[in-house]
Amino acid sequence: MTDPRLPDHKGQAEPEAANPRQCSHDTQNGEDHGPHSTPGILRCSFFEHAKDRMGRPFVGDVAALRGILRKTYTPRPGNPGGTPKQSMPALNAAFYRAGAPRGVDNVLGVFLLILDFDNSRPEPTGEFWPNPRTGEPSNRPKTVKVRIDEPVTMAEVVAQLRCAGVAFIAWTTWSSTPEHEKSRVVVFLAHAVPGVLWERAAAWAVAHLGLDQFRRGLDLPVLNNAAALAFLAGSPDPESIQRAEGEGDLLSIPLLDLQTTAAPVLEPWEAAVVAERQAERARGEKWFQAYRVNGRPVDFQALDLVALLDRHGVKVGRSRAFKDGTKTRVWCPWASEHSNHRDGDDAVVIHTPGTWPSFRCEHSGHRFMGLRDLIEWAWGTP
Ligand SMILES: [Zn+2]
Repeated sequence: MTDPRLPDHKGQAEPEAANPRQCSHDTQNGEDHGPHSTPGILRCSFFEHAKDRMGRPFVGDVAALRGILRKTYTPRPGNPGGTPKQSMPALNAAFYRAGAPRGVDNVLGVFLLILDFDNSRPEPTGEFWPNPRTGEPSNRPKTVKVRIDEPVTMAEVVAQLRCAGVAFIAWTTWSSTPEHEKSRVVVFLAHAVPGVLWERAAAWAVAHLGLDQFRRGLDLPVLNNAAALAFLAGSPDPESIQRAEGEGDLLSIPLLDLQTTAAPVLEPWEAAVVAERQAERARGEKWFQAYRVNGRPVDFQALDLVALLDRHGVKVGRSRAFKDGTKTRVWCPWASEHSNHRDGDDAVVIHTPGTWPSFRCEHSGHRFMGLRDLIEWAWGTP
């Protein structure tokens, strides 16, 4: 099964297939390319460093993409992305409209399944993020990433992917050490997955490829974020980088079935907040009735949420036409809670005539937050 063309393969042992049962796959890959794809042609994006918002689109076949991913890269002088690692060029699994910056809301489609085995998990610290305006503790716990006890190795993931018969390329990442390996795997897709279906598609793919056994090591927020950056291979010690590749089929994700799959699972504490709010609604309690202007209910339809954020010192972008209304990229008021602290302007406000404005931030821990949270942030909890 070893590909004779493997470059820079550091003599990694071929592991035994972990579980022969999982090799009896019945994939039907590569038969349905979808209506909008050219068979074998992938589209994704490259970025110069972590702070680069406008990517360079890639359109090409797997061989061309492999050629880019096989190289070893070094940080840019002056660390324009922040840290040396963040100054590295990065791949993003998605493609965008011409001129659209990287961001979940601008994703047209996703052509790569990028699996980051960072082998760590978020652990609550017992502290909660303070409300940035009042300093009061919020309902969002602070977490720290701690190493998991049984790191997933690249070798075992590679063995499983060879079993599954899909085309992929893998490498160990910047902070990988022999004792605590960290790796990134790129699986090439046969056709694009629309951005809105990405979380479900990723969950399907992980299960279908027999990788559920390795979920403990996966960075799931990154997996679920179609706009996430994946730094290309590089290391303070480039000689230490381990690589592997597999020939095989392009993975074909059945989009029609996905639409009936259950929505992705929230973190337990997020689910608790959502459940509490559902219970409030079931009891007939309406959070918005507590807010009054001159004794009268607030006219939320007329509320300019972008202006409200602006007044409170939050950076807002230019509003663009979106359906009947407007969409505006805004800084998330809680951006300091984001795991990378940098993608602050990933949030959006949408105004649609005749309805209340909406707010959305795709960062993990903020996915349940909306208009209510912004109002509580701006006007306080009544
Ligand atoms: Zn946020």
